[in-house]
Amino acid sequence: MIIQLKPDVTKEKALELATQIGAIHLIGNGRQTLVTSSKIKDINGVLDGLVEQTFVFDNDLQLAHASYKPEKRSAQIGSVTLGGNTQHTMMIAGPCSVESEEQIEASAKLMKSLGVKALRGGCFKPRTSPYSFQGLGLEGLKLLAKMREKYDLAIVTEVRDATHVDAVIKYADVVQIGAKAMYDHGVLRACGQAKKTVLLKRGFGTTLQEFVQAAEFVLSGGNEQVILCERGIRTFETQTRFTLDLCGVAFLKEKTNLPVVLDPSHAMGYAYGVPDITRACVAMGIDGLIIEVHPNPKIAKSDAAQQLNHDEFRLLHQTLPPIATAVGKIMV
Ligand code: PEP
Ligand code: MN
Repeated sequence: MIIQLKPDVTKEKALELATQIGAIHLIGNGRQTLVTSSKIKDINGVLDGLVEQTFVFDNDLQLAHASYKPEKRSAQIGSVTLGGNTQHTMMIAGPCSVESEEQIEASAKLMKSLGVKALRGGCFKPRTSPYSFQGLGLEGLKLLAKMREKYDLAIVTEVRDATHVDAVIKYADVVQIGAKAMYDHGVLRACGQAKKTVLLKRGFGTTLQEFVQAAEFVLSGGNEQVILCERGIRTFETQTRFTLDLCGVAFLKEKTNLPVVLDPSHAMGYAYGVPDITRACVAMGIDGLIIEVHPNPKIAKSDAAQQLNHDEFRLLHQTLPPIATAVGKIMV
């Protein structure tokens, strides 16, 4: 249950009440707010006379639930707002990994030339093998920060575990929590304390309920700027890398109050399918896309098969605005 306290209840009093009833305390809708398990349906007697409004839910999808904030939450990516009352479909693009200054600068220049406002690139890569390229780490973050300065791009980059959260927060505009890190409670809790937008990717074996509950960890930590990202789930199919769950996206749009971004690159796993899937995603009226683009995908150090080259991305990018317009959205 979400319990919104009356405006005259002080923070000190709210914290005391939270301890008394075993609730999480946060500020929500500008009010001192307590959040308990959804199993609790009655207001504890110690709160008598102090409650302004309560929200009762069937399960622990609470702070992210559409009925708590019907107007939808918004999240900031550099100068662009996603969700809320905007109609933006934002493009975030760049290589899977930051590999060198030349490579990331080529990507940054391409994005700048096309008017794309956010550059992605991983520096702490959660690879399936310890023998694969693991990312440039801090050196990569510094290169991304340089690109932000030089080309005025917002930076989206991932954390592999909780030890990187501080460094990523320092250099990035958006902290990406990858599919494999989605269950890492150290990461989720650290991001809950952060004053940075979080892009939370769905684990490939994660139900929608588990996915949104991971977002609840960040929201209940006090960080309201959470974006959900569907990037494909594992099914019986092996011809494509994963299966993009568009039914799940319809659920997230309807039942949650969070902006939703789609990642066609990791879902498909092969560059040939990415343009068509991207157009299908835009037609769903989503808040954003995250696409892997590399100056020379053949020599990419990670996810080589799925990255678009610059010409492929340029062609794709120009086809998107009319599709967005047709569903009442604006490509940014
Ligand atoms: C990535 O964005 O490069 C990545 C590793 O994605 P995911 O966590 O979705 O696998
Ligand atoms: Mn990748």
